[in-house]
Amino acid sequence: MSKKKELLPMPSLGGRPEHCLSCGYPLEGLPAPGACPECGLEFYGGLTMLQIAGVAKRGPGPAWRKPVWVVLFIGTFLWIQSAALLWMMGVFWISLLLFVSLVAGLTAMGVTARQGSVGSEYFAITCAGFGRIPVGGKARITEFVRWGEGTPAVRIERVGKYWAKIRLVRKVPDAKPEVLLDAGFRCPAEDLQVVEQLIVRLISGEGLEDRDSIPGYEKSVLMASDVRYHQGA
Ligand SMILES: [Zn+2]
Repeated sequence: MSKKKELLPMPSLGGRPEHCLSCGYPLEGLPAPGACPECGLEFYGGLTMLQIAGVAKRGPGPAWRKPVWVVLFIGTFLWIQSAALLWMMGVFWISLLLFVSLVAGLTAMGVTARQGSVGSEYFAITCAGFGRIPVGGKARITEFVRWGEGTPAVRIERVGKYWAKIRLVRKVPDAKPEVLLDAGFRCPAEDLQVVEQLIVRLISGEGLEDRDSIPGYEKSVLMASDVRYHQGA
């Protein structure tokens, strides 16, 4: 993770995205609702998209990492235990060799840990599914996850005053729920219920037309983006 931490934006509502959430094709000027001319992904008019920003949880990583950590841990333990003894026996080079291997091993683990790590992303949630857009990425690499078959469900948990956890899963009969997204995202704690209700409506296909009926909506950060949107800002 980078040391220079820029604050991610708060959740907001929007309409048709500037670029297709699946392939990145520019959608500007196309009548909404419609479908992407490039990949066919549907987009909608009005306020139909909830955008949150955060960092997705990384996967467990390759299977070989665990045993290597165990070996390094045992090696470090043995080195601490034997260093003085080997020195006294006049074979301190064994100790030195072990030390160099341990440092090399730990460095290699440190370097490889950064591979495959994901930075901050925008998660743009619509009735069709959600798009993942890297924040500040050079190339416009996007990924769209469709709700698809089964029953999608959302769970949001408070982590801090401005940070929460989101878990989107797809429940399929007689199978373990498939995790679609496991991420942390930025949101004021008092607005988490509103965000969750908006996502529930999007997942169910109900849409955001009736968003005013969600308790706390008028006081939430979502209302602020709603107003901005309708003022055309
Ligand atoms: Zn597209």
